[in-house]
Amino acid sequence: MKRRGFLTNAAAAALLPAQILRGQASAARVTVVGGGFAGASCARSLRRADPRIVVTLVEQSTVFHACPMSNAVIAGLREMDRQRFTYKAVQADGVALVPLAATAVDPRARSVALSDGTRLGYDRLVLAPGIDMRWDALPGYDEAAAEQMPHAWQAGEQTLLLRRQLQAMDDGGLVVISAPAGPYRCPPGPYERASLIAWYLKAHKPRSKVIVLDAKDKFSKQQVFLDAWSALYPGLIEWVPLSRGGQVVAVEPATRTLVTDFDRVRAAVANVIAPQKAGRIAAAAGVADRSGWCPIDPVTFESRLQPNIHVIGDAAITGAMPKSAFGAHAEAKHCALAVAALLAGREPASPTLSNACFSLVAPDYGISVAGTYRPDGQELAEVPGSGGPGPADSPRASPALEARNAETGFGTLTAEVFE
Ligand SMILES: Cc1cc2nc3c(=O)[nH]c(=O)nc-3n(C[C@H](O)[C@H](O)[C@H](O)COP(=O)(O)OP(=O)(O)OC[C@H]3O[C@@H](n4cnc5c(N)ncnc54)[C@H](O)[C@@H]3O)c2cc1C
Repeated sequence: MKRRGFLTNAAAAALLPAQILRGQASAARVTVVGGGFAGASCARSLRRADPRIVVTLVEQSTVFHACPMSNAVIAGLREMDRQRFTYKAVQADGVALVPLAATAVDPRARSVALSDGTRLGYDRLVLAPGIDMRWDALPGYDEAAAEQMPHAWQAGEQTLLLRRQLQAMDDGGLVVISAPAGPYRCPPGPYERASLIAWYLKAHKPRSKVIVLDAKDKFSKQQVFLDAWSALYPGLIEWVPLSRGGQVVAVEPATRTLVTDFDRVRAAVANVIAPQKAGRIAAAAGVADRSGWCPIDPVTFESRLQPNIHVIGDAAITGAMPKSAFGAHAEAKHCALAVAALLAGREPASPTLSNACFSLVAPDYGISVAGTYRPDGQELAEVPGSGGPGPADSPRASPALEARNAETGFGTLTAEVFE
């Protein structure tokens, strides 16, 4: 072993407040990779569950860009600075932040390799790397193509690129969104995006149109979206499902052309939401299966492929629980309790997890879907009667109230995770 190996534990310890280090020579070490909704939340929750645990968060970016509400940024309804969060509050809770990428995991040695060539040991590892695009899944779509036809499915520069393209488009232009088959991050996200782009076009470029080319025949909150589109944007959004030839089978970035089995559609602006997989460190750690996602025990979130490694957030296979920021936060809090219990030799409790997903159809028109989930065999199953979409079949909330709930829900969630 090279001498530089394992120096990073000392480096991480140097980042910890002195009072946390006192008397911790043999304290349990938990390393969390990925400081998004799942990882940042889990790191803080671990410190709260047992302040004796030495928690290190490995995050490759110094600033986190949140995806929820980013469709409003694309439509010019919101500025990007409201999507940005730092790790100051996470560090103030006594979490050591390592601002590097994790490049490999050695489950036998229980160590994580970092992008500076050093390694970090752990007793238990939590992987929360979110998603990566499957660059090999759609012919013609690679990282260079994403500069012409942005996915905007990881917030930040991609979000702003799509916004700039819409702003630069002539009135009368065709916007095409390619929506993937499941599973993917944020099931209602492509349809919220189509709605808010339609809102932008109606207000600024009324001769333009949105086409959603879809690799599936059904989508989340479908009837509620379709009813709202008829009411707010008649003739402006066309949804082409799989059974009518909606699946995009290739793209040609030079001409912004999307190819289906029956057609070639040339777009003025093309948003290609490509097929996805767990963030690449998951495969490097040996916790992703052939689907590209990570099978876990739904009680402890421990990988079913590698011991002592837990996977949370979008990267995990969670059955009926959708890949959402609210869900990631719920999983993170429970995973922290389970890891603390396992480290203390106690049996982890079985979780009941809640998720609520809000979508904006217009600035003052929101819809939501909620659910509660419990372990059932190897997956999380929805508790019967626990949720469903609103407000179409719910007398509780009006579209205007749901739009306000979307904003307050985002504020509450980001405050809990990052502030
Ligand atoms: C357009 C859009 C709208 C959405 N709207 C909503 C919504 O309204 N409500 C909702 O609940 N959800 C929404 N979502 C879904 C939500 O954004 C995700 O489900 C959530 O971000 C998942 O959290 P995560 O922690 O698993 O991943 P992320 O939040 O993506 O965090 C992953 C983190 O890991 C880091 N990372 C990855 N690999 C490494 C590595 N090797 N080393 C170090 N760091 C690494 C990344 O830099 C990143 O910070 C939306 C998504 C999109 C795309």
